[in-house]
Amino acid sequence: MRIGGLEAGGTKMVCAIGDEQGNITEKKIIPTGTPQDTMPELIDFYKGKGIEALGIGCFGPVDLNRKSSTYGFIRQTAKLPWINFDMAGTMSKELQVPIGFDTDVNGAVLGEAVWGAAKGLDNAIYITVGTGIGVGVYIDKRLVHGLMHPEAGHVLLSRHPKDTYKGRCPYHSNCAEGLAAGPAVEERWGQKAVELADREEVWEMEAYYISQAIADYIFVYSPEKIILGGGIMHQKKLYDMVRKQTKELLNGYIAKEEILEDMENYIVEPLLGDEAGIKGALYLGVLKLGNC
Ligand code: ADP
Ligand code: ZN
Repeated sequence: MRIGGLEAGGTKMVCAIGDEQGNITEKKIIPTGTPQDTMPELIDFYKGKGIEALGIGCFGPVDLNRKSSTYGFIRQTAKLPWINFDMAGTMSKELQVPIGFDTDVNGAVLGEAVWGAAKGLDNAIYITVGTGIGVGVYIDKRLVHGLMHPEAGHVLLSRHPKDTYKGRCPYHSNCAEGLAAGPAVEERWGQKAVELADREEVWEMEAYYISQAIADYIFVYSPEKIILGGGIMHQKKLYDMVRKQTKELLNGYIAKEEILEDMENYIVEPLLGDEAGIKGALYLGVLKLGNC
């Protein structure tokens, strides 16, 4: 079975051809410009390759409501030229194959659930702390959609007592993304995140925010595994800081061994590394084909 996968990001598009086992035989990265520049390049990559379906994990917000006239569209994104762009419809028209469509982070959690750190589990979440904060949610073996889709990067947090930074989200003064995504860290401290590696107070504050968000996700989604990735998590010391603070915030209330005894295996790095998103996208295509 030949399947196409597309991890559509705000800075780059990862295009792949692969199969239902997650083997990728061809891959290309295309920088994200405007739809007018970028779409012809994407279409050119997939055309003539005999794919039976295409799965797309897309930056958002996106419309996932199949009854909506704008199903498959990108909505009010910060990437202005893409607002109201019909991503799924354009690909369907051009390639004439079934299109599986979901958010980039739902794609990533699916990849990890099928082939990665959450393999065999029914419930997991995938959190990326990068240019933004996004959360893919997989419950009872399904990706969660609702009125829209989870936007858990925007959960509201208590401010660190020493934090005077205004926050970076245009909608909320104290949401996780506005306080703790890469651009917020860099604006607050006035340096590239990687250059802040030795500043203990930076990571103490970062762990404080990420842990609060994770405690909320545990209360609300009750995941069996939390996969934590994204550029900021290249600061590996954050993993243990986050595990410890999350446990403290839960304060024994979620009395499960995974949390009380085995945090190292509960909050984990993506097993698929950088390929969670693209492999998940591929599997969105596999699922779509199965449902046709
Ligand atoms: P995206 O979210 O666009 O997919 P990434 O997950 O790579 O991209 O996240 C990019 C962000 O990660 C940057 O804003 C930067 O602040 C941060 N970042 C990248 N590399 C590192 C690093 N080695 N240490 C700390 N932060 C990093
Ligand atoms: Zn916000």
